[in-house]
Amino acid sequence: MNTSSATPVIAIRNLHKAYGSLEVLKGVDITAHAGQVVSLIGSSGSGKSTLLRCANLLEDSQQGDIIFDGDPVRWKGAGANRRPADHAQMIRIRTNLSMVFQQFNLWAHMTVLQNVMEAPVTVLKRDRAQVESVARGYLAKVGIADKADAFPAQLSGGQQQRAAIARALCMEPKALLFDEPTSALDPELEQEVVRVIQALAEEGRTMLIVTHDMRMAADVSDHVVFLHQGRIEEQGPPGRILTDPQTDRLRGFLSATL
Ligand code: ADP
Ligand code: MG
Repeated sequence: MNTSSATPVIAIRNLHKAYGSLEVLKGVDITAHAGQVVSLIGSSGSGKSTLLRCANLLEDSQQGDIIFDGDPVRWKGAGANRRPADHAQMIRIRTNLSMVFQQFNLWAHMTVLQNVMEAPVTVLKRDRAQVESVARGYLAKVGIADKADAFPAQLSGGQQQRAAIARALCMEPKALLFDEPTSALDPELEQEVVRVIQALAEEGRTMLIVTHDMRMAADVSDHVVFLHQGRIEEQGPPGRILTDPQTDRLRGFLSATL
């Protein structure tokens, strides 16, 4: 892990986001340094998914800064009209903060290998043969090398999610963003995905993980952030946040979750 003086891979400062009159993020700060795993926990509707989607510019935000690798997002317009001003910068951020979704979001009409290769070939314009060899490497890494030519519907949920992780890795991003990666899985399939995420943490990947799985948060995170109604209510190392909550809200959340 880098020291705190190094440039963070992702820094979010005082971020505000509303859907119409509904304020969803009310001034959120998040920092992830290279090699750090930051988990976001909180009740349904607290703004966790919105925060991830704002971080990689899938959603607009109205106020605050998003700084990727020391480079602050440049905006045009203000408030409800604020948009990223620099298209190339936006693409750079989206491709470098690769997202893994709860529902996998694999393309049903493509094989697993095609799913993993698609964005590097079409968005990053990488050489197809080289991408194929990298893609097969990541499929092996997540333990589904033998599923390369299968279609998503032929895979279990856990295998589909591992394919989605291989797809995110194949972009060779600076960080991975996970939005409840195990929530759609049966308990017995959850563990195979948790093990992959654990291995990624151990090899020093930078990750922002929204999760309802407190055991995974405890096992993989360097830092845990508890979001409540669009604000950070409490944050700290997993050992403290998950076992010694300081606020009634976090205490209540944990006792309802565990
Ligand atoms: P979480 O991931 O913590 O469950 P979300 O970020 O999905 O929370 O949602 C936060 C709030 O924003 C909720 O009240 C939700 O209904 C609202 N919301 C999320 N997406 C949209 C949208 N596209 N349009 C309007 N409201 C939304
Ligand atoms: Mg969510």
